[in-house]
Amino acid sequence: MPAPKRKPAATAATKATPKAAKNKVAEKLARLGLRTDMDLVLHLPMRYEDETKIVPIREAGFMTGYPAQIEGIVTSCDVQFRPRRQLVVKVQDDSGELVMRFLNFYGSQTKQLATGTRIRVRGDVRHGFLGHEMVHPSYKVVTEGAPLPSALTPVYPSGEGISQALLRKAIGNALTRVDWRDTLPPPLLSSLDLPAFEWSVKLLHNPTPEVDEHALTERTHPAWTRMKFDELLAQQLSLKRAQAARRSQGASPLPVIGKLSQEFLNTLPFALTAAQQRVLDEIRADLREAFPMQRLLQGDVGSGKTVVAALAAAQAIDSGFQAVLMAPTEILADQHFRKIAAWMEPLGVNVAWLTGSLKKKEKQDAQARIESGRAQLIIGTHALIQEGVEFSRLGLVIVDEQHRFGVGQRLALRNKGLDAAQADESKQTVPHQLMMSATPIPRTLAMTYYADLEVSVIDALPPGRTPVLTRVIDQNRRDEVISRVHAAALEGRQVYWVCPLIEESEALQLQTATETYETLAATLSDLRVGLVHGRLKQAEKQEVMEAFVRGELQVLVATTVIEVGVDVPNASLMVIEHAERFGLSQLHQLRGRVGRGTAESVCVLLYQSPLGPVAKQRLATMRETNDGFEIARRDLEIRGPGEFLGARQSGQAILRFADLATDQWLVEQARDAAQMLLKEQPAVAEAHLARWMGIREEFLKV
Ligand code: ADP
Ligand code: MG
Repeated sequence: MPAPKRKPAATAATKATPKAAKNKVAEKLARLGLRTDMDLVLHLPMRYEDETKIVPIREAGFMTGYPAQIEGIVTSCDVQFRPRRQLVVKVQDDSGELVMRFLNFYGSQTKQLATGTRIRVRGDVRHGFLGHEMVHPSYKVVTEGAPLPSALTPVYPSGEGISQALLRKAIGNALTRVDWRDTLPPPLLSSLDLPAFEWSVKLLHNPTPEVDEHALTERTHPAWTRMKFDELLAQQLSLKRAQAARRSQGASPLPVIGKLSQEFLNTLPFALTAAQQRVLDEIRADLREAFPMQRLLQGDVGSGKTVVAALAAAQAIDSGFQAVLMAPTEILADQHFRKIAAWMEPLGVNVAWLTGSLKKKEKQDAQARIESGRAQLIIGTHALIQEGVEFSRLGLVIVDEQHRFGVGQRLALRNKGLDAAQADESKQTVPHQLMMSATPIPRTLAMTYYADLEVSVIDALPPGRTPVLTRVIDQNRRDEVISRVHAAALEGRQVYWVCPLIEESEALQLQTATETYETLAATLSDLRVGLVHGRLKQAEKQEVMEAFVRGELQVLVATTVIEVGVDVPNASLMVIEHAERFGLSQLHQLRGRVGRGTAESVCVLLYQSPLGPVAKQRLATMRETNDGFEIARRDLEIRGPGEFLGARQSGQAILRFADLATDQWLVEQARDAAQMLLKEQPAVAEAHLARWMGIREEFLKV
């Protein structure tokens, strides 16, 4: 044991014990984010314990699986050493005897639980060696006839060093002090059939025994519904306010749809789909405004987002500004560069390329072109947000596969476009932003987390695509699959062979990829097989990809580096090994690499049996549907929103009470109410936000 700390000499602060103790409690509570009385009042129970009843010990024996509360007299209390050191206490009532077992205990407990003491014990009963027993139950010493609580006992989310008793006391005090005024007007509440704030909160903290316990724990009780609604409403209001704040910022309008835009459209080998045209019109209208666009462009894999982005860039360039396109991987950035440069350079556009793998000289050259404004369209990776990259007149920022970037990275790119010469922040102009994502976000999530963005959806694929046929096949039929690959290649098809994902070790993943490549190259000795993985130098990657694009390679063995964006229309067969290790959206993205041409495409998902239930569900989903939105919806069901959203929301548990999987209807009501309040009753909106958001609003600023 550590030596007892020497007491510091008494000072003014330590003498004032009550105050010091109070500060200490406040400090502990602050660690849970509980600073104000309202914070405490809104710290709602995560569950309840029923201490309102005592059951006879004999009866408790039939209640396996539920916690039971008994009361009795201690008949023995011993420290035993077999099978290991433990405190064993026997308790008796009129109906029988029960053993309590403590593996961790304090010496003082043997005194507290001396023979003859009356105790109330709460815990799960199980059948042990010595009859009914409870392991580590909670208990307290009582006098005969001590009153039972009349309400269910709330159990609060807590943290280290913060006891339930402390929380209950602090919350109990706060409940007597807060301003109970309802933030929502009675007509709104009655139209939504919601109970009053005060009634709801008090009921949740101190439910009377007749309240349906099931409805409380499942959070379906109307009191919970009110809390969820309030929370969702605050979120909607906050997002809408963030949107309004953005609109009050300035941006340079990009109004010209001129020569470049026209010629570009004319030289495209295809016509835009109706969906692309609609989305383009939405973007074009935004770009004309003098406040920054912040639009999320969603469209399933292969729906043709790139050309829309290029047309947006053309409008920026036509208007005399620079546009930048950032992609998450070098392969993708490279592909964009090639494709867009091939479209635009013949039309006289100066396109620059900037990634981490450029040689120093090339990098300096690119930076000089960007800074002087000679480069009109700049394409690259994260390298774009590094120090030393200065834009001359950045009007439009495009982020491809935006979910791959963190908020900070996207913000950093946007900030490159701030006008450094303008010291007055309120007069600074901000570039327009277009974010693209092929991971469709289900409607509820989009409504909840992206209510501050404009959202455009390309909801149809270009014509002439045949849906990819997906087959799920046991790994033990791998040889059959290889001969099929062979046959397909001889017919002139190109094949992706995706190596297993090994999350724990990049080295192992690399080794597996190399081995897969070697065995396939040996087995398919009459075919030209290539290998691409993340560790290759950029030039090597590029060389392999180019050879595949030109059709010189028939089979491309690849790691997930090809997951996003890669576009080789002639590839029509994909094999994914150990498909059970991949997530649903990842499988969908990978599969999106085929089915880009007119040939019928096949995706083979090889799996290692036995499959767990989640993996089984995923593979079945892949077999059943090609629709990215449907896949996203099921993915959300399987994984929950936290994991689903990735960077934007990580670590930001904004919703504490509402559950997006079950409370979708409330989200819609909250959205409508938010719109109505902002328009008709802004003071109500203000008061509601003040009560609910507090510091959490910080999260939503970006
Ligand atoms: P994604 O939305 O996944 O980024 P891409 O922009 O890579 O999709 O487009 C997929 C393929 O479809 C590309 O080869 C592209 O040139 C082609 N494409 C895009 N729009 C059309 C269209 N309207 N008609 C025919 N092909 C198109
Ligand atoms: Mg793309």
